[in-house]
Amino acid sequence: MHYDVAIVGAGIIGLAHGYAAAKRGLKVAIFERSYTPLGASIRNFGHGQIIGQAPGRMLNLAKQSRHIWADLSTKANFMVRQKGTYLLARTEAEQELIEAFYAGRAKDYGYECNLLSKAQLAESYNGQFAHHRAALHGLEDQVLYSRQAIPAMANYLASLDNVTLGYSTLVRDIDPDKGCLITSQGRFNAEKIIICSGHDYQTLLAEEIRALDPVVCRLQMLRVTPNTALPLEHALMTGLSCTHYAAFSDLPQAQAIAEQISRETPLLDKYGIHLLITPTPYGDLIIGDSHEYSLDAQPFNNEETDQLLLDLTEQTLNCKVTVKERWQGVYGAKGKEPISILQPHPNLTAVLMRTGLGMSVGPALGEETISQIFD
Ligand SMILES: Cc1cc2nc3c(=O)[nH]c(=O)nc-3n(C[C@H](O)[C@H](O)[C@H](O)COP(=O)(O)OP(=O)(O)OC[C@H]3O[C@@H](n4cnc5c(N)ncnc54)[C@H](O)[C@@H]3O)c2cc1C
Repeated sequence: MHYDVAIVGAGIIGLAHGYAAAKRGLKVAIFERSYTPLGASIRNFGHGQIIGQAPGRMLNLAKQSRHIWADLSTKANFMVRQKGTYLLARTEAEQELIEAFYAGRAKDYGYECNLLSKAQLAESYNGQFAHHRAALHGLEDQVLYSRQAIPAMANYLASLDNVTLGYSTLVRDIDPDKGCLITSQGRFNAEKIIICSGHDYQTLLAEEIRALDPVVCRLQMLRVTPNTALPLEHALMTGLSCTHYAAFSDLPQAQAIAEQISRETPLLDKYGIHLLITPTPYGDLIIGDSHEYSLDAQPFNNEETDQLLLDLTEQTLNCKVTVKERWQGVYGAKGKEPISILQPHPNLTAVLMRTGLGMSVGPALGEETISQIFD
């Protein structure tokens, strides 16, 4: 079988490239080694984040991705909540940062957001967040339920006449001169080959990827049910995230938050914890996350990390929660740039996310690469 483009990996990056190619009428093959996507793309918060993106390329990709997600959710029939994110200010330092961001960078770079006062916060969710000082409302952020959205997107692509989706198909090797993929299900040919293999740095292009000094990040995650009725529609973050996300982390006010964390809650620093909460379609909440960087992800979950996350969640929501599930996720991290694109041969491209924002920017990244190769 001969294809215009063959894509390795059915995480969000591979599927996004498949979608962009399929829309152009190209004959597409997507190969995934597992029997259904199981990588970072189904283990995350489903947070389509715009408010925290670095100004410039990442912000632009995230804004474009928002529209692509909306289009896809209709075609592939999965839920997207488009109410945005509340970034809750718990301390004076956090409040100073969101006010400075709102008055300056938000306007300079086009972050769509509002400031909510304590009184306005008290009016939402039956006053559940009235104990916070203020909030930045990122209006363009959205939330998907990844374990629903990613398989739905894959099924939609597989239903198109010009797309073949091969599960349980490990791509063992590639011969770009011949346009050939050697897989566990035989040989396939394609004009162009795009590798979207997530944080697998060993199977394909191992030498080229080694030159990037690849590191992975391991995150602990939980699904919980709030013990008080809380029909959450927004994603929630706190000022802790302002030391993590590039939209905020270089603002002078972020330093005061970082100092407060290391003075008052050093364990959050030790485990790289900052809080993100997203609602599932079923009334539960996904909470996380911690950040542990290494060459390979350790398999052992640390209970102290989970307890810190649960305590933070209960303080932030002002209610107790019951744990339903725990898991870990891994993504490629700490690249010099948030995205690494390799082109070792004119017919072979690798697209690797090197930061934890692939759900936010992946759809537009797929569009960008396919446009550069084919348009
Ligand atoms: C816990 C967690 C929370 C996160 N939260 C968010 C969030 O809320 N918002 C956000 O924007 N980002 C988030 N991220 C980051 C985001 O999930 C990743 O950036 C994104 O999923 C990476 O997508 P990917 O397609 O590159 O990788 P993956 O989803 O890991 O997909 C790669 C796929 O390639 C397949 N594969 C690899 N090698 C081969 C081969 N040789 N042959 C065949 N198949 C192969 C793998 O089996 C895998 O299915 C989070 C990540 C984690 C881990």
